[in-house]
Amino acid sequence: MATGNRTRANREEIGSSRSGATRDVRSNAGGATQSASSSRYSEHQPSRGRAAQRVSVDAHSPSDAEGATGVRAPKRTRSAEVTTRSARTAQRPSARARSGQQPRPATHGAQGAARQIPVFRIGLVVVLAILLIFGVRLCSTVTPINVTVNGTEYAIRGDKNIDTAIKESGLPINAGDLISLTGQVLEKHGGHPFAATVNGEPTTDGAYKLREGDVLTVTDGEDAVEPYDAVEEELPFSAEIRGSGSVHEFTEGANGVLEKRTGRISGETVEKQTVAPTPLACTRHNLNTGAQKVIAITFDDGPSADYTGKILDILKANDAKATFFTVGTEIQEEGGADLVKRAYDEGHEICTHTYDHALPVGGLSITTMSPEAQIAEIEDGRKAISDATGVETSRIVRLPGGNMDENTVVNIAPYVEYEIGWNVDSADWTLPGVDVIYDAFMSVKPGDIVLCHDGGGDRSQTVEALQKALPELKKKGFTFVTVSEILQYPAE
Ligand SMILES: [Zn+2]
Repeated sequence: MATGNRTRANREEIGSSRSGATRDVRSNAGGATQSASSSRYSEHQPSRGRAAQRVSVDAHSPSDAEGATGVRAPKRTRSAEVTTRSARTAQRPSARARSGQQPRPATHGAQGAARQIPVFRIGLVVVLAILLIFGVRLCSTVTPINVTVNGTEYAIRGDKNIDTAIKESGLPINAGDLISLTGQVLEKHGGHPFAATVNGEPTTDGAYKLREGDVLTVTDGEDAVEPYDAVEEELPFSAEIRGSGSVHEFTEGANGVLEKRTGRISGETVEKQTVAPTPLACTRHNLNTGAQKVIAITFDDGPSADYTGKILDILKANDAKATFFTVGTEIQEEGGADLVKRAYDEGHEICTHTYDHALPVGGLSITTMSPEAQIAEIEDGRKAISDATGVETSRIVRLPGGNMDENTVVNIAPYVEYEIGWNVDSADWTLPGVDVIYDAFMSVKPGDIVLCHDGGGDRSQTVEALQKALPELKKKGFTFVTVSEILQYPAE
């Protein structure tokens, strides 16, 4: 029974040790009591005495108890002394008991320990990670890198950037000035602090991160212009007629941008062209057909009821293709549309020579017409053709007399792709005689555009000269193509 009592007493003490701090005082007291009795048995029953000893240690800490068991087990005879000390502490609660640190609730002790281990490990990992990060940073900050500044090598520590390199080098680098929009100095050394290149690449960024072996050149900073407000205005493009040759190609213009700037510090105002206008250009050039003996014969001022049909017959007989620069009012004459349709169907090209050949302003040039009237000359002339052929007319035109100026170029540019001139003027409209016109035909070179007329008056000389010249030119190896076809050749 005694053994049973002691066993119960041990259990009670174990239970007490796992209860709260307030109970711990009591358990110690109980433990002391029990231990005191245990000590009496310890000489006879060492194993029980050992059990009592373990319990008394358990009351302080379960972990201590494990260690105490291993250490104190061989010294069983001291158990009484230990338990006696425990008995004394029963009247004066231990420091641990007073602080309530060690004992854990009996019902949650095991789980609490399980939770504490992961928390402890996580905390440890976090601390190690922080130490590692700070360590790496410390190392990278402390470890110098070698860079060359203006030919001399320096070891750079701390923030390894251009600012630091300049500071470490001790070079006398001066900042530029802050200047107004007109160049007045607003603040001495208020400009860019330095100008630098890193391995040849220019930069003004002082925080530019440097690497081992970088090569810097550093010079005084450039002046900085004060901040400003700007209002943009369009700069209208102009027109240019440039070059020389039979082909007059139109290229689009584009407006530029003018900035009106007001300095925020100085209040000065200046104008600055930030985008240059692109001039609308009519570029003249000839064509290079190389070794190919190709020419383009053109007929103006038709169609003509008396001559166009005859000319079409001659062209057909010589396998020749030509281009007719027609006048809209002539197409609208009796039979005019049929001639245009026939010419188109037989493979010739039909382009406009304006609607009425500038008749309202003298019949020689559209340059004195209003922009609207100029455009109408082109567009109405094209429509007269498409009404006859049933297909849209190209934007290849010939102006009356080949006359145009910069204003005309600006006005008609949206409606014209090419204005076609000539390399050989047969002067047939002057009725110089068949031989003169024939000689003009026979003077052609590959790539030439030849001017003659099928309308506008007596064209009998033209018909006769053409009939004589085409077979001769064929014998010489020439072929006769339309303007669109000859435009496929490159500019000379
Ligand atoms: Zn004409």
